[in-house]
Amino acid sequence: MKLSELHNGESAVIVKVSGHGGFRKRIMEMGFVRGRKVTSVIDAPLNDPIKYTIMGYDVLLRRSEANLIEVLPEAEANSVLTAEDAKAPNFFACTDCDSCGLTCGAKRSKTTQRNIINIAFVGNPNSGKTSLFNALSGGNEHVGNYSGVTVDVKTGHFNYKGYHFNITDLPGTYSLSAYSPEELFVRRNLLESMPDVIVNVVVASNLERNLYLTTELIDLSQRVVVALNMYDELEATGAQLDYQNLGSMIGIPMVPTVAKTGKGLDKLLDTIIDMFEGANKSARHVHINYGTILEPEISKLADILHETEDFPQQFPARYWAIKMMEGDKEVAKLLQNSKSYDKLEKQATISSEEVKKQLDIDAETAISDAKYGFISGALHETYTEGNIEANKKTRRLDKLIVNKWLGFPLFVIVMWLMFSVTFWLGTYPQDWIAAGFDALGNYLNGIMPEGAWRSLVVDGIIGGVGAVAEFLPNIILLYMFISLMEDSGYMSRAAFLMDKMMHGMGLHGKSFIPMVMGFGCNVPAIMATRSIESKSSRLITILVVPFMSCSARLPVYLLLAGAFFPSYAATIMICLYLLGILVAVITAKLLRLTAFKQDETPFVMELPPYRWPTLRATLKHIWEKCYQYIKKIGTVILLASVITWVLSYYPHTETSDTNIAQNETETTSAIEQQYENSYLGMIGKFIAPVMSPMGFDWKISVAVLSSIPAKEIVVSTLGVLYGSEDEDLGEALQKSGDLNIASALALMVFMLLFFPCIATIGAVASETKKVKWAFFSVFYNTAVAWIAAYVTYLIANLF
Ligand code: GDP
Ligand code: MG
Repeated sequence: MKLSELHNGESAVIVKVSGHGGFRKRIMEMGFVRGRKVTSVIDAPLNDPIKYTIMGYDVLLRRSEANLIEVLPEAEANSVLTAEDAKAPNFFACTDCDSCGLTCGAKRSKTTQRNIINIAFVGNPNSGKTSLFNALSGGNEHVGNYSGVTVDVKTGHFNYKGYHFNITDLPGTYSLSAYSPEELFVRRNLLESMPDVIVNVVVASNLERNLYLTTELIDLSQRVVVALNMYDELEATGAQLDYQNLGSMIGIPMVPTVAKTGKGLDKLLDTIIDMFEGANKSARHVHINYGTILEPEISKLADILHETEDFPQQFPARYWAIKMMEGDKEVAKLLQNSKSYDKLEKQATISSEEVKKQLDIDAETAISDAKYGFISGALHETYTEGNIEANKKTRRLDKLIVNKWLGFPLFVIVMWLMFSVTFWLGTYPQDWIAAGFDALGNYLNGIMPEGAWRSLVVDGIIGGVGAVAEFLPNIILLYMFISLMEDSGYMSRAAFLMDKMMHGMGLHGKSFIPMVMGFGCNVPAIMATRSIESKSSRLITILVVPFMSCSARLPVYLLLAGAFFPSYAATIMICLYLLGILVAVITAKLLRLTAFKQDETPFVMELPPYRWPTLRATLKHIWEKCYQYIKKIGTVILLASVITWVLSYYPHTETSDTNIAQNETETTSAIEQQYENSYLGMIGKFIAPVMSPMGFDWKISVAVLSSIPAKEIVVSTLGVLYGSEDEDLGEALQKSGDLNIASALALMVFMLLFFPCIATIGAVASETKKVKWAFFSVFYNTAVAWIAAYVTYLIANLF
């Protein structure tokens, strides 16, 4: 029967995995292999995807994918599968390193400088690599409780016991094959930068699947130390692990760590140093035994490589041979220049066919099976399961949080809470900051002499920067929510809930996380799409993220909605966010129907257990964003304010100086005149014809134009153009009559959808690696914005 036919609460044993190569590989590295027990836990409220438990962790599969997995009830499965589990560890220690091209023990350290140790963190997503990295280097890297947070390499340094450590935090991967961008990235990074010691971060409470990656590292034959992270969780289940024995069995020293509290880190570093110095006793060189059918074929391929010795020497011939058997295209490319490549390729085809004939499964599956066999053999002798059910809390919570009836209402409440707190609680400190800037402006106005300098400081800098700085509290609150959702594990549940809907628009549940992150800032959101394996889904997600209203757009809404719709401000803002989502949905659907008709990769996603967010991580995260925002204010926004001021002050006509005017009305009209004749006025008037259908005059047009570096600048520009010392910007705008209810709405819509900021466009270009898509973003979004704003203006005018 099919896995998808299992009812919630039922278990069965996997007998066969079908589907195309990429799907099988992916699903195998997640633990879906022959003979493994799998339990159906809960369906998403919309029936799809389904949460399964396998190897003691939770994973999501769509129904269509679960259809490709053949299972049998446990009793029946035993007769089909020759009981393979519980056999002795399947490996042998290397006896002749010269012949297999491997380097044992300390041979490698010759190439590096003494006292400088380069280490790289490799591990499954969500295993705590970044937490370890931060604990060791004191860095502020972002930690999150869902897959795919680290999307780039991060490096850090520190000194310990006279050694200088350079650490690299790599993205999480389940294996080192060539099926996802992360896997490729990590492998390339290891190949190119050749760390002295690889630290394999392993979730101690989920060893079986986590050690799969370790077996890949064994094949690579590098110097590895395993950090058994989250050891606290293993202990909490009452499980016991003879890690010393396990470590010496597989030739890799293991150190229990708790990255969250810093426990075990000294021991880890000591072990790394030992390893670096070649003084570790557990470290030895082992080969995984792939069995009587595979081994001879692997040897044949390795021998061919040794004939010419012109393969990349960083990894041993045996590794390249195994990957050729698996049909790894990237490896084939790397070996292409070898003189023996033609022979190698032919042999690889022959060998794979031979394996298929003898074992009735393809070579790739046979290799994965052997790896899992190796792991279960090693664990059989060293690991005793605990009697306290792991993740009981998670299971209970999930019954509630992704419940058929409660799941969505709860989700709506969480989202509503996030936005309402951001806007409501944020207004208090916002007022204080605004009052502070006003007081400063008034004070300087009093002590500085009349003229250009005073105008620059008071109108330009304080007016512009102050207008943006007030929104700092709102942004802190928004990021606090995003950070809490990420760290607790709720964000992954949101992906679970949303997958079916995301599927409807041609995307993955995984796309949901970048989209929510987009509410904070589009740039990291676009980078977070790297966790989406499917190329087309990833590209579509990148292109729709800019429609997610980032926090930079927030000041614009707060200003305009507050001024023009004081009693409906919150509703208007929610509608704007929804409009952004709607446009994203339509765009995704359009792209799926036209440019990307096919989705290539399956939806398989790990569901991490719920964890209490740590205060430290949350505060760090918020501080980081806060700092970035302040930096932005001090740089881009300051500069933009000054430029706007210069453009609005020059050419300067003496008559327009406010001190010459006799009364207030004259003053106002004099300022108006000054702006109108300034460079800014000229630019505004030049583009005004395009903008006038939406009800924008030249001043508003200028403000819109000024938002290209960063969207908050609209507010600072308006601050320069309309700001005065004795009334707030919103009132001033309203009084000016340049905007009415209809055009204010149109302006908000336009700012929501219009050209994402320069940094976002840069991220689109660098993540898609094609300038084409950056241009697409610019033109498509601007066109959509114009049309939507125009329609809004027309409709609003009817009322
Ligand atoms: P990465 O994806 O491998 O970089 O993992 P992160 O460093 O982002 O951590 C994932 C989650 O695990 C976060 O919620 C951490 O707070 C949590 N975490 C990390 N280390 C430990 C640990 O030793 N014990 C426990 N209980 N949780 C941990
Ligand atoms: Mg990370």
